[in-house]
Amino acid sequence: MSANYTQCRYLRRNGEQCTAEALDPSADILICSKHAARTMQLIRAAATGQKQSSRR
Ligand SMILES: [Zn+2]
Repeated sequence: MSANYTQCRYLRRNGEQCTAEALDPSADILICSKHAARTMQLIRAAATGQKQSSRR
């Protein structure tokens, strides 16, 4: 890794890792704000029984 910040560990569907900065370098989960928001969307969709692709 060449970045001097803590990088988001999110892996895209195509296997590329996100290059954004993680929200909290000391947290258990290293994820950027964008992917944290995306994760919340997925959780909400799963909780309501909706497929993520059915709502856009
Ligand atoms: Zn990310």
